[in-house]
Formats: sequence, C-alpha cells, structure tokens
Amino acid sequence: MKKVLPYGHQSIDGNDIASVVRVLKSDWITQGPVVDQFERSVATYCNARYAVAFSSGTAALHAAYAVAGIGPGNEVITTPMTFAATANAVVYCGGKPVFADIQEDTLNISPEEIKKKITKRTKAIAVVDFAGHPVELDAIRKIAKARNLLVIEDAAHALGSTYKGKNIGSLSDMTIFSFHPVKAITTGEGGMVVTNKKDFYEKLMTFRSHGIVKKPEKGGWYYEIETLGNNYRITDFQCALGLSQMKKLGKFVQRRREIVQQYNKAFRSMQEIVTPVEKAYAKSAYHIYVIRLRLERLRVGRKEVFDALRKKGIGVQVHYVPVHLHPFYKKTFGYKQGDFPEAEAYYETAITLPLFPGMTSGQVKSVVKAVKEVLSQFRKRR
Ligand SMILES: *Cc1c(COP(=O)(O)O)cnc(C)c1O
Repeated sequence: MKKVLPYGHQSIDGNDIASVVRVLKSDWITQGPVVDQFERSVATYCNARYAVAFSSGTAALHAAYAVAGIGPGNEVITTPMTFAATANAVVYCGGKPVFADIQEDTLNISPEEIKKKITKRTKAIAVVDFAGHPVELDAIRKIAKARNLLVIEDAAHALGSTYKGKNIGSLSDMTIFSFHPVKAITTGEGGMVVTNKKDFYEKLMTFRSHGIVKKPEKGGWYYEIETLGNNYRITDFQCALGLSQMKKLGKFVQRRREIVQQYNKAFRSMQEIVTPVEKAYAKSAYHIYVIRLRLERLRVGRKEVFDALRKKGIGVQVHYVPVHLHPFYKKTFGYKQGDFPEAEAYYETAITLPLFPGMTSGQVKSVVKAVKEVLSQFRKRR
C-alpha cells in the first residue's frame, strides 16, 4: 500500500530520546523534578509567572474551567470552530458552552458575536487561536474587562505564535497548551495551563492531584481534600521529552512558516482555493494549513476533492466538524444546523493539507502537485 503523508507528525531526534532514557533510569519517573523544569521552561518562554503541566490538553482545559469557578448555571462563550474538547470541558464542570460565530477571514471567534451572547450567567470567554492565528485579544479582553469576565485561551494550536509581538501564553487569565504529537511540541500526551495569577496556580496544582492539600502540622502523612480534584498528572519522562522539545520550538515554528510560504506561493494563482490569512498583529505558529475550496468553481463537492487527494497518498484532514453540530450538543443544548453560518460555511469547503516541521521540500511539492492535478480535474469548464 502507498504510504500516506500525514497532515501532522511529531519530530523526535536522538537528544529527545536520550533525555527520556535518562529519566527512565532515575529514581523518579513521575512527580519528580523534571515536571517542574518543563513547566518553568514553558512559563519562561511565554513570559508567564506560573505553569502547571497536565496529562493532556483536555485535562488542562478541565482544570482551567474548574479553577475559574465554572459550574452549573454558568455559561462560557466559545467558538464552534474548534476541537470539541474546548467545549466538552465546560460540560465536565456542569457549565453550558454558548457558541459565538467566527470571522470569515481568520476563522477565529468574532468579538462582535461574543458581545451578542453575553448574559447574566456568562462567566468566561474561551477563545481558540485557530490554526495558530491569535484571536483579537485586545478587543476580547476589553469586552471581558467591562463585564468582569475571565478570558481563557485555548492555545493548543498557538504555542510559538505571537500577538502584537508578544508570545502567546501570558495575555489571557489562563492559557492552555496541548502536547499531542501533532502540536508544536510533544510529550506524547500532555498539556499545560500558564497564568500570571497565583490563586489560579495554587488551585490548578491541587486540582491536578485529587484535590489533596498536605497538612504537615498534623503529621507527616496527613492531607485533606477540600475540593474535588482528579489524577491529571503527567510523568517525568514525558516532561523530559517536552523539555528537550522546547529547545527546538523556534526551529519548528520557523520550518512550519517556510512550508506555509511555499504553499502560499504555489497556490497564489489558483482560482479554486482560498489560502490562509495572517493579520498584521499576528504571527502564526501554523499548527495546521487550511485551504478553502471555492465550490462555485468546481464540478464536485469537498468530499470528492478530499477523497481524490487521499487516493493520491496525501493525508488531508478536515478541521473541524463545527462543535454545535455534534449530536451530543444538539441533544443536550438544542443547537442546530444554521445557528452559526460562518463556521458552517467554512466547514463545507475546508481541507487541511499536510504540515509539520519534518516535511521535506520535495514532500511539499508533491502535495502542491496533487492539489493542482485534482482541482484541474474537477474544475468547471465554461
Ligand atoms: C489538541 C487540542 C485540544 C486537546 O488537547 P489534547 O492534548 O489532545 O487533550 C484542545 N483544544 C484544541 C483546539 C486542540 O487542538
């Protein structure tokens, strides 16, 4: 069978492997010193005071919402154009995800739409830097501040992105990263919350480990559970991988941006597709490269184009099925087709092309060639 070029892939070298092996041979394979070192490395990179690592980005989201006080009766405004975990974790806390439609160009949540969704029950705005492109943080923070809402940033796509020259990670009340293999750096599974607020930091640490608070004054063994937590810990050997990967983050982002330029240049003259935008305030770490098909110029729909590319060995994907259209969200909250027209319109035309730091220029060319062949085959004739 033909080997498929995936849409994303980790980049792991000998130094990464040696770092993990070193920890595996040490006394601590979980809850040791490397978790802390990895946290400090990411916090320093982001210019944030505190960081707490978790077993996944989803666990980190759950923790962030929990310590933000999201519970039954609370609403969190978020985007329908995200991986479902952004909204699912609100539901874990008993809250309601209230979606606000996206902007047509950046595909990020629209500040204007956010304003329309605020009610007395709104407690937080959970934004997602889609594909790595930062949201309009100034406008969103202004809206939040005026109404005393928290801004929680799901930056699972945006480690290494900048907003107005500042690294994503210290610009919201809490920022979440994921270290899944397709993300900017990996720990296998893993995630992190970074914040400048000590109160959140302390609660996140407790939430990560069952809600346990040690009380040494009552005995060396003694602890109490004051609030309910989870086992959302990450291991030391995973953090050894993360710490080693952090050294290469700059290079990874640079390589992603080179590939994006190669794609943009190759597709510039093609009338059948729309390529991603990057606003003047933003520098994207390009977690994914999404194109939109101009279906009015094609004889077929997105599915046919997708299938034809897969058949040529290009591991295209679609990011994402709008969250409100999943049966769970329709059933539980009454969302329906038509609720968020921009997100739905984007979804109908979206295709994600392969993009990861280890891609060779030859592989990029092969993707370009396949896209050009497929689209010329399906082009409408006049
Ligand atoms: C990857 C991702 C997550 C979840 O992270 P995991 O580490 O896979 O749990 C959450 N939100 C977004 C936008 C993501 O892309």
